[in-house]
Amino acid sequence: MSSNKELLDNVATEVVVCTKCCLWKCRKKAVPGVGNPENKLMLVGEAPGRSEDIQGEPFVGAAGKLLDTLLSEIGFSRTQVFITNVVKCRPPENRDPLPDEIETCTPYLNRQIGIIQPAMIVTLGKHSTAYVLGRANLPFRSITQEHGKVHEAVILGVKTVVFPTFHPAAALYNTQYENQIRDDFQMVKKELLKREPVTR
Ligand code: URA
Ligand code: SF4
Repeated sequence: MSSNKELLDNVATEVVVCTKCCLWKCRKKAVPGVGNPENKLMLVGEAPGRSEDIQGEPFVGAAGKLLDTLLSEIGFSRTQVFITNVVKCRPPENRDPLPDEIETCTPYLNRQIGIIQPAMIVTLGKHSTAYVLGRANLPFRSITQEHGKVHEAVILGVKTVVFPTFHPAAALYNTQYENQIRDDFQMVKKELLKREPVTR
């Protein structure tokens, strides 16, 4: 049987040459995701931005620096968890991903979830939260209402917990969000400690 690493590498190999939606036309690099294939904590952002598009890695720009800090405050480095996005290529001018782009791209995210079988999925921002809760047939009202709450979920047969928080980019513009996202991350830590070991 193939290892998680091999299976995730297969997804990444497909993503980097994907032309399934029109976002491939203006990308420099597609951004499949990075991290530890055996880890049980998965973080899902929205879509690559400018720095991510250049480097082919998620959350390496300003929002990524904040994400690294938030992770380190709860005892993780980015290489220990698995970080990816709903949409794997940068939308022009960082516009929101369109519904048909989300629909076309998310089979890749679904496969990543199926391989990793995360104990917890931290969704960053409204697009990621709406998509992931939707996959679990759970309602999404707004990020303000859903953030900081544990949503027990079954996604593609995987029993997991969805934990929404604000997008780190929002926190860069508003310190109120920064405090809330920081509190949310502390809850992530508490929830993880209550559950199964994060690494197999
Ligand atoms: N914002 C995202 O949602 N994802 C990234 O990878 C970078 C910025
Ligand atoms: Fe393919 Fe997703 Fe990139 Fe669209 S955004 S080209 S579906 S990898």
